[in-house]
Amino acid sequence: MIKDYQTQKTLRVLYDVCIVGAGPAGITLALRLAKAGWSVALLEAGGQAYAERSQDFYTCTSSGLELYPHDTRLRFLGGTSNHWAGRCRPFDASDFSDPPPGALPGWPIAYAEVERYLPAAMDIVDLEQGADFRAVNTALNGGEFDADRFLLSPPTRFAQKYAAALNDTPGLDVFINCNCVDLHFDKASGNLASVMVSDYERHREAVVAKQFVLAMGAIENARQLLNSGSLAAAGVVGKDGMVGRCLMDHLNVEMGTFILKSGQDTGLRSYYTSEAFAKTYKAGKGNVSAAVLDQVKTYGRMAEVKQFLESLACRWEVADKIDFIANFSCPGDGIIGTMIEQCPNLQSRVTLHREKDALGVAKVNVNWALTPEDRHTIKCIGTELAKQFADSGEGFIKLNEFVYDTSKPLKLEPHAHHMGTTRMAASPEHGVVDHDCKVFGTNNLYVAGSSIYARGAAANPTMPLLQFALRLVDHLDERLRSANGVVVAS
Ligand SMILES: Cc1cc2nc3c(=O)[nH]c(=O)nc-3n(C[C@H](O)[C@H](O)[C@H](O)COP(=O)(O)OP(=O)(O)OC[C@H]3O[C@@H](n4cnc5c(N)ncnc54)[C@H](O)[C@@H]3O)c2cc1C
Repeated sequence: MIKDYQTQKTLRVLYDVCIVGAGPAGITLALRLAKAGWSVALLEAGGQAYAERSQDFYTCTSSGLELYPHDTRLRFLGGTSNHWAGRCRPFDASDFSDPPPGALPGWPIAYAEVERYLPAAMDIVDLEQGADFRAVNTALNGGEFDADRFLLSPPTRFAQKYAAALNDTPGLDVFINCNCVDLHFDKASGNLASVMVSDYERHREAVVAKQFVLAMGAIENARQLLNSGSLAAAGVVGKDGMVGRCLMDHLNVEMGTFILKSGQDTGLRSYYTSEAFAKTYKAGKGNVSAAVLDQVKTYGRMAEVKQFLESLACRWEVADKIDFIANFSCPGDGIIGTMIEQCPNLQSRVTLHREKDALGVAKVNVNWALTPEDRHTIKCIGTELAKQFADSGEGFIKLNEFVYDTSKPLKLEPHAHHMGTTRMAASPEHGVVDHDCKVFGTNNLYVAGSSIYARGAAANPTMPLLQFALRLVDHLDERLRSANGVVVAS
């Protein structure tokens, strides 16, 4: 049942599972765990629709590259799926077996751990069962650029699609306008004891559960962990520890323009760096899309943000909010969009700001920062693509100078794929959660969403984060059953 916490303060004394954040990750976890018979609280800060009162809690300061964290995330039921674009590409096995460029390790688990959840994740985002991830074009000659394979979700709007299930699933309490404002950790037992929630009038209450999952998106997951005084006092979250570090996005670099040879098909071309490319150049992975301008009305995936904010602008006069997006129109014969892997970087991070928000939670500063390895990846992708595009007889690419001259400032935009701030690792030295998505140093606090990504490759993050959420459902189900004395079949 969906209840408004402003007016219906009817929390149970104890839940089996408390999930914070009702975006794709939180909704998937809550519905599956409730259907498995567990009592579940799903706590959502926003209401049923966009409202500035909630959205303004996403305001951050920035000391690095601009990430637009206020406008690219949505803080209401369904989360950022209310304006995602629906592009789905699964991870490759090599994303897990190979470390990312740079000094940090990659995934501590094999891809097989999440691959088995791919069909169920596809179903959640309305992709046809058994459908193959399709290439829309052929690979380039030379073996370094495969044709990219992807599918498009309608795109699934989670709050709409799953509204009836959120209302009708027995055992599930969904509280909207219910803000997580603190995490209370009991050092003696090693358990998170409760999540402190608040309505918009600062009425506070503790939500008590056996297991807890943070699913608020990559910036807020880190923020709530950093903000918790009891986690800090217990040494679970250190001031100079890993929480908030390795903030990554996919890089939308303005590569340049292209012209096609006469007679060439003007349809979209989408390429993906091959395994040979990654090994030869010791570089990250990347997707490159080339499209002729008269077929593309708005550049890049920010089209979705633009449409969403324009619809609000008509109703609520927030036209100033769409200013930055106006710059995305690109002139030229053909434009090249990229989605390039960012390697994990300890200095790219979310930290607490000294100011607090209206509910007493510390605001955050976002320092989105790249490394020389990222410039290397961009340069290799750009220069090799230009050669192979010409060699394959497709046409000619004019690269922007900063692509091959790394002394020049880079022009790029984010993709709003926030990842890595609570990365998965084999030990707390390199990450925040273990291979089960459990926060190191705790017995019952888990994280869901792309903040756990040890490496983002160039896979769109949402469908894979659902694979991880489904894996976490199985893990929590097993833990709760064994705690209840039920013998779990191995
Ligand atoms: C324009 C755009 C296009 C995109 N296109 C794609 C795409 O094509 N393919 C793709 O894979 N991905 C895409 N994405 C990314 C995708 O939207 C995210 O990966 C996905 O929404 C993340 O899901 P999540 O559940 O982890 O987090 P979110 O969707 O961000 O949900 C987090 C939830 O937590 C709630 N919350 C936050 N703080 C609190 C709090 N203190 N207390 C309680 N609740 C809280 C929020 O209100 C929200 O409902 C796109 C993003 C944008 C902005």
